[in-house]
Amino acid sequence: MKAPKEIRHKLGARGENIAVKYLKRHNYIIITRNWKIKAGELDIVAFKDDKLFFVEVKTRTWRPDIDQFRHLSLRQAKRNRMAGKCYWRFLEETPESAHFDLIEIITSKFGFVLDLKHTQDYQLPIYPLLAEKQQEQEKTAAQLVTGLSAALIFQCPGCGEPHTGKANTFCSVCEQKIHWMNDDFFCLECGTPLESPFAECQECKGKVPWSGAASLMYYKGLGANLVKGFKFNDKTFLGRVLAERAIKLLRDHEFKTDAIAAIPMPWLRQFRRGYNQADIFARELAKRLNVPVIYPFAPTFFRKKQSRMNMKERAKSRLRSFPLKKSVNLEGLNILLVDDIFTTGATLKSAGNALKKAGAENLQIFTCAYTPRYRKKK
Ligand SMILES: [Zn+2]
Ligand SMILES: [Zn+2]
Repeated sequence: MKAPKEIRHKLGARGENIAVKYLKRHNYIIITRNWKIKAGELDIVAFKDDKLFFVEVKTRTWRPDIDQFRHLSLRQAKRNRMAGKCYWRFLEETPESAHFDLIEIITSKFGFVLDLKHTQDYQLPIYPLLAEKQQEQEKTAAQLVTGLSAALIFQCPGCGEPHTGKANTFCSVCEQKIHWMNDDFFCLECGTPLESPFAECQECKGKVPWSGAASLMYYKGLGANLVKGFKFNDKTFLGRVLAERAIKLLRDHEFKTDAIAAIPMPWLRQFRRGYNQADIFARELAKRLNVPVIYPFAPTFFRKKQSRMNMKERAKSRLRSFPLKKSVNLEGLNILLVDDIFTTGATLKSAGNALKKAGAENLQIFTCAYTPRYRKKK
């Protein structure tokens, strides 16, 4: 829970005073404090060795249960950068370079300073545009715009450790740990090896409504934990992370879609959980593939959870129907149906059949994770 506004303001001001003292002790000259424009603000502007420093101060009260040094949000980093650039433009004489620093201060409940961490250059510095430097700058311009990210420190969504890769990616250790379905392709329904993830299985042709089905990773180890967190523990940002990773797989393989649909969640469950992870995943994919998300399924109030059913009940639930909204017409469309986990495929089958009935020309399936243990043996 956040502290009331005034207390936070007081805490912030105190932190800034401490940061100023710290900087002065290290021979910085303080130029301005709390410089504000509409696009952003700078807590402290300081000067040392012909270099300019934009220092952002974060003050937090110590709590045992959270990570103390949490760095900055991307939004805040962007606001700082905007403000820094504007400040730079106002200067009559340009210094050698301008740097973005971060000072994080942890205080006790009673205001004693417990810890102070000074992170230098948490994002790319600004240099004056000298002729020879200009080319260099243009080269990195793309980096500067899309990912300030490149120079920021991020928490790995897998292990929580900081890493300096791109935003929404895993650190190299976690990347290795997750069982991606990268190069072994097979029919998710019957296990027949296939050439590409979206190839049609000849064994299952006619038995399943889709012409191709693929999954991002296996439901085991770290991958399973991630999907569980995404499903049950409000880790909705994983939708972004997994979609970012999935796009690589989708772009590499033959795959076409005009619209994306997600397996709907019954109203009661979505109300309790606050979100539908399949829908979040679908929207993140759609954003990156530049196609719309469609909602053809009629809302339902209640449906028994798959995870609460045994195998027999799951098989029976194959008969369960996904009613469509009235006047849904999908004629001639290639649809990508998205869900979080592929287990028996029963849910996807009945939803897929409904979409086919509404006229969908071609249906492909994509899920975050795949559970191999329920695969039927022949
Ligand atoms: Zn990691
Ligand atoms: Zn098959």
